[in-house]
Amino acid sequence: MSELRDLYQEVILEHAKRPRHFGRPEGATCKADGHNPLCGDRVTVYVTLDGDTIRDVAFEGAGCAISTASASLMSEALCGKSVQDAARLFSRFHDAVTGAPLLEDADLGKLEALTGVKEFPARVKCATLAWHTLQAAIRGGELVSTEAP
Ligand code: ZN
Repeated sequence: MSELRDLYQEVILEHAKRPRHFGRPEGATCKADGHNPLCGDRVTVYVTLDGDTIRDVAFEGAGCAISTASASLMSEALCGKSVQDAARLFSRFHDAVTGAPLLEDADLGKLEALTGVKEFPARVKCATLAWHTLQAAIRGGELVSTEAP
């Protein structure tokens, strides 16, 4: 597995070791479970929506370094963004990790660290699992809180 060493950049290793936004937050409004059978990654993503604004993203689960780092980096990147901006960022991120040509204004920030997976097609699902799960949560994951609006 030494070829993967190039992929495990510092940012990935750091986020995999100490993931941000890890845990089940109070007051989440929706959640979804994701599973990547190719690698065995499992993730539950919790989203706290306030209208169209993503107030908080958090996750639980167990998976490889890439899936954990991706969930952690995604959570950091999406807090405070609108649902529309999150979808746009996912589309750019997806392009980047699958090797599709990027839009000129695609600014991925720290997510750039994960774009090395484009050389390893089997790992693309690890990098996108949390994102697909987040989309599922926003599109109608079960309500985990019954707080009045
Ligand atoms: Zn994985």
